[in-house]
This record gives sequence, C-alpha cells and structure tokens, in this order.
Amino acid sequence: MAVSVANYVRIKKELEEAGALLVAVSKKKSVVDILSLYELGQRDFGENYVQELMEKQPQLPADIRWHFIGHLQRNKVKYIVPICSLIQGVDSLSLLDEINKQAIRSNRIVDCLLQVHIAREETKFGFDESELAAVVPLIAERKNVRVLGFMGMASFTADELQIRSEFRHLKKMVQQHASNFSSPESPVISMGMSGDYSIALQEGSTLVRIGSLLFGARQ
Ligand SMILES: *Cc1c(COP(=O)(O)O)cnc(C)c1O
Repeated sequence: MAVSVANYVRIKKELEEAGALLVAVSKKKSVVDILSLYELGQRDFGENYVQELMEKQPQLPADIRWHFIGHLQRNKVKYIVPICSLIQGVDSLSLLDEINKQAIRSNRIVDCLLQVHIAREETKFGFDESELAAVVPLIAERKNVRVLGFMGMASFTADELQIRSEFRHLKKMVQQHASNFSSPESPVISMGMSGDYSIALQEGSTLVRIGSLLFGARQ
C-alpha cells in the first residue's frame, strides 16, 4: 500500500487546528515512502526498532527529527542518542540513567518522554502511578536528559469510553507532575495513534503518533 496524500493533508490540518504535533510512524516502511511525506513538508518521523532506524537515518535528509517510540534496550541506547531528537517510551529509571550517560558521552542534551502505563492490558510497557511518584522527583538530577512530558498507549479496544478515560488519566498524570518537567508550562502529552487520535486530541494530546493512516497497513 502506498502513502495516502489525502489522509496526510487532512490529518495535518486537524492537528494544526488542535495545536498538536504530528509524528509520522514509519516503522517497516521504506525510505521512498518516508521521502514522499518529507516532500509534502513532514519532518517528524517515529521508528520502533534501533537497527531499522540506523539503516534508514543516513539515507534520509539530515533535517528529519527522529522520534524513538519503541521499547528501548539499555545496550542500544548508545546507537540512538546521537541521531534522535526525542526518545519517547522511557520506561525505567535505569534506562533514563543510561540515556543520561550516553548523552554526557556525546556532549548532548537529550529530550525524553516517560512512558506511562494507562492501558488495561498487562503487556504494555510503562510506569504506573506509584512508580511515577517515586521516579519523577529524581529526573532533575540527570543533567543531560530533559524530560518534556509523558507518552501513553490506550487499550486496544473498540470501547471509546475506555480509551477516553485512559487518555484522561494520562493528562491528569501530566498535570500532576509537570512542575518537575524541564518546560513545566508546556508539557508534552504524547497520545493517539491511527485508531484513536481523534479521542486523544479531544482529551488534550499535544503529539500524536500516526502510522497506518499515512503509510497504509503494515505487514
Ligand atoms: C506503531 C506505533 C504507532 C502507530 O500505530 P498506527 O496504528 O499504525 O497509527 C504509534 N505509537 C507506537 C508506540 C507504535 O508502536
């Protein structure tokens, strides 16, 4: 399946009106597909796999802002710190520490989002409420990372009320902890994907991660 220019134009406009950032999730999609959105003006792209990101990044324009949105293993942090503009999905303090360590090594400040577990499913990664309360006060000590906000994924369900309440919960968590973020007055709330981004926008998302609506279904 090919890139949908019509969906891109429509979603881009919707997000502009809502004041939210569009991250085009390009995992498992080709460099050619990414370039076709780039040519329409898209600059923020999201990838889930370290190996795949490392293969694509050198083949694409240098002004692309890469978001790492997958589950990140500590031993791979060193590869992505030099090329990522935002590491979403930081789900442990030890991972944040490793990002800080590699950021010091590359003389960089690295922007991150903590992943919060909001879904009913057990399988999703992320901090729960009590873990956040313990970890958030410690982030300021990590001088080479900037925590800008939280990222969350709602349950995979057709129950819109459930999804809405999970997004609402994430926003509440952000409000509760924003004073510890590096820009407390403009916290990032990364929520919403192809299937649920409209609900996410209504619930205050500032960044949505959309793959299949833009690039077509993945294999
Ligand atoms: C794959 C992925 C997306 C995009 O999913 P679509 O349903 O294709 O829009 C968004 N966020 C994360 C964390 C993902 O892994």
